[in-house]
This record gives sequence, structure tokens and C-alpha cells, in this order.
Amino acid sequence: MIIKTANFVISNSDVSKCPKERLAEYAFIGRSNVGKSSLINMLTGQNKLAKTSGRPGKTQLINHFKINNEWFLVDLPGYGYAKVSKTVKKTFQSFIKNYFLQREQLICTFVLIDSRLEPQKIDLEFMEFLGENGIPFSIIFTKADKLKLNELNRNIEFYTKKMTSTLWEEMPPYFATSATNSTGKEEVLNYIEEINNKLEQS
Ligand code: GDP
Repeated sequence: MIIKTANFVISNSDVSKCPKERLAEYAFIGRSNVGKSSLINMLTGQNKLAKTSGRPGKTQLINHFKINNEWFLVDLPGYGYAKVSKTVKKTFQSFIKNYFLQREQLICTFVLIDSRLEPQKIDLEFMEFLGENGIPFSIIFTKADKLKLNELNRNIEFYTKKMTSTLWEEMPPYFATSATNSTGKEEVLNYIEEINNKLEQS
């Protein structure tokens, strides 16, 4: 897919105020600093679409961007940043939960995982929440340029083992990306395009 237009639509903390337009929606979420803003900018080819975080935990809103007038890309708040106060965390969790439980046009959630790290409890628990609620997701392993290919493959293999030896029967679709050298850009965008095409046909 070629991204011709990517426009900011609205930011809010209330799922009922998200755009009413029935476009397919793809959400991006992960721990603060995982590289979400950089990834969104890389995918859309716009350097400043999502704000890269000088201060993690800053962007605590649901951000809608309309892509090619065809689908919504949703930039969700990063989770798990220790310095966000408990009250903020609680509010964040409830509006994010509401978003996932109520947003009918949400087609797929991309859960971003730092490819350098061992599986983290907070990410595994978040995916468990998605699974329990029947919310489809894929994994994006970020910052792939920071590893050698064999290290990257080993980490992904380890992640797969961790998931399939616990709750999951199989690994969800996954991608390895780098915002620095655009690895994975075509794969992620083509994946979205394929789903959009299927939705159009049905
Ligand atoms: P966010 O908090 O998840 O939105 O993360 P950011 O996009 O702000 O990135 C956090 C930090 O990681 C920044 O210093 C980025 O420059 C860096 N970063 C993000 N993606 C990549 C990547 O693919 N490769 C490298 N080498 N650094 C990255």
C-alpha cells in the first residue's frame, strides 16, 4: 500500500467521542518508549505525524489519523511508564479498556514489543486481555536495526516459545520493523491493505 494522505482527525480520552465514520481501524499500542511514534511516522512517511516522546507517558490520549481516506490509524497511549502517577494510570486503563471493548470498527491491534527485550509481563498481560476479549492483534517487534539478524531471529523465536508454552495455541501474525531503516514497512502496510481488501469484498 502506498500512503498518499495521512491526516490527524481528533484526540480524546472518551471512546464515545471517537470518529463516527465506519472506516476500518488499526490501533498501535505498546510500552512507553517502545518506538511507537517513530514507527507511525515511518509507516506514514510523515516525520511529525505522531510526536516522538521526549517525555514518556506524555501522550495519554486516543489519537485518530485518517489514512488515504480509507482507514483509521489509531495511536494509543503508551502503557507501563513508572513515573505516571497511579491515578493517571487508572484513568488511562479504564478509557483504554473502554476503547478496546466498545470500538466496533477496530479490526486489528498492533502490539509493539521492543525486539531487544525478553518477554515482559506487562506486554504478556496486555495480550492476554486482548485474547480474553476476542480482540484480534498482531505483534510488531520494533528497533530491529539494533540487533544482528541472528539475534533478532533468536529473540523472536524465544518470544514465540514463551507465548505458545503458556496461553496461546499459536503465535499471532508478527512483523519486525525499524523506524531507522524502514524495515518491515511494506510488510505491515501490505498486511493492512490485504485485510482492507477482504473487508471490501465481504
Ligand atoms: P514511543 O514512546 O513508543 O512513541 O517511542 P519513540 O518513537 O518516541 O521512540 C523512543 C526512542 O527510541 C527514541 O529515542 C527513538 O529515536 C528510538 N527509536 C524508535 N524506533 C527506533 C528504531 O526503529 N531504531 C532505533 N535505533 N531507535 C528507535
